[in-house]
Amino acid sequence: MPIAQNIVRIQGQIHQAARRAGRMPESVALMAVSKTFPAEAIREAYAAGMRVFGESRIQEFSGKAGVLDLPGVQWHMIGHLQSNKAGKAVELFSAVDSVDSLRLAERLNAAAQQLNKQLSVLLEINVGGEAAKSGLSAESQGLEDILLAAPRWTNLEISGLMTVPPYTEDPQGARPYFRKLREQRDAIAARKLPAIRMDVLSMGMSHDFEVAIEEGSTCVRVGTAIFGARDLTAKP
Ligand SMILES: *Cc1c(COP(=O)(O)O)cnc(C)c1O
Repeated sequence: MPIAQNIVRIQGQIHQAARRAGRMPESVALMAVSKTFPAEAIREAYAAGMRVFGESRIQEFSGKAGVLDLPGVQWHMIGHLQSNKAGKAVELFSAVDSVDSLRLAERLNAAAQQLNKQLSVLLEINVGGEAAKSGLSAESQGLEDILLAAPRWTNLEISGLMTVPPYTEDPQGARPYFRKLREQRDAIAARKLPAIRMDVLSMGMSHDFEVAIEEGSTCVRVGTAIFGARDLTAKP
């Protein structure tokens, strides 16, 4: 199906899921995850109204960014980022939604200072505690260290939490993980820590975004359902 039609359909599903949960549909942002798809697909999604895009690899996006000039777009880095690529990430993106270490946060702040830029960031939580996944574990000292260090990062705006739950065939399987992330967000927000905002809850992908919205997601990251299946044989 064409990209524009997919977007209309997904927006309808977002609307209904929000209503079911007694939430305002406008409280849920749709991010188009365009990793592995060419610049042309991004232009098509842009023409259909998309303004928030997620990419997960610096090198791949850097090539696309060079040929795209789309006013008003927010580019979000959503993949694992090595701290030695922090500078490049700050150049290319307006937000990094996958901050998973103190070291990375420090590097991003330093790079943002140099470029005189404010960078919006989310802390990525590994809700399922999966060894193969990046992300901070929920009750870790690592997370606590970041929360307490935030006031010294003048150029970072910590805005909330992000997660990719363990994959289950049935999207309902993700519900307890989404709920856990929301509870964790609420617990952090209740502490009213300086320089920590917890407005954003980025959770839900193509196959489970409706469940995520029912559990409080404010940003769903949708790739496959917008652009089609990714070519998994393609080189990263
Ligand atoms: C690829 C990716 C998505 C989108 O996944 P789909 O299942 O294609 O919607 C969302 N979030 C992250 C972090 C991703 O890497």
